[in-house]
Amino acid sequence: MPTDPHPPGSVTADGGASAGGPAEGGNSIGRLELVEFPHPALARRSRALVQIDDDLCDAIGEMFEIMYASGGVGLAANQVALPYRLFIVNVEGRPDAGDELVFINPVLSRPRGVAVQEEGCLSLPGVRMDVRRPERVLVEAWSLDGEPIRMDLDGLLARVVQHEFDHLEGRLFTDRLPDAAALEARRLLESFREVFAGRQARGELPPTAALLDRLDRLEAARCGPVAGSAAR
Ligand SMILES: [Zn+2]
Repeated sequence: MPTDPHPPGSVTADGGASAGGPAEGGNSIGRLELVEFPHPALARRSRALVQIDDDLCDAIGEMFEIMYASGGVGLAANQVALPYRLFIVNVEGRPDAGDELVFINPVLSRPRGVAVQEEGCLSLPGVRMDVRRPERVLVEAWSLDGEPIRMDLDGLLARVVQHEFDHLEGRLFTDRLPDAAALEARRLLESFREVFAGRQARGELPPTAALLDRLDRLEAARCGPVAGSAAR
């Protein structure tokens, strides 16, 4: 049973305090970068966006730049440590081709068929595995312009949209593997954990508590309340 996606608030021209300025805190998003497993943003189920401001629009533009620079065809907000219910897709993976799609507060429904295809993830560099997913799916969402999106998807676009939607649910493709492959994935994820902990120990990454504080602050600035924010 499809549920209407939540419409975000109308786009405002209000950039808030010192958008892009050096001041941290407040609603400022600041510069984005890809984060890798096990950054806590990747395990977090994102809440519906209720406010879209200039700072977030800038961030979405930056997400496309990061996606193209990394050779990706889709990118979810939590892959750049933003706790927002949105992802972007361009199946051509190039700024000069294909359509740049932004899905805000997406809802998936009507899964049909089964397809197995190899997937990778910018949050798990170097890991590629066969993943079984529905072949077709209906996505409903909102565009950055506040227009409703309703697309019945198949092929690569259906694959990418489902992969990115999983990110918003705090899931990675490694959560969808059959037993033998899941065992192999668990071993790989453990090595990612060691690398991440090492970078934190050397001060190259903030401690987890600081990462969580930032997520909480950004979430409070633009997301709806927990109750009633479920998109399905
Ligand atoms: Zn991914």
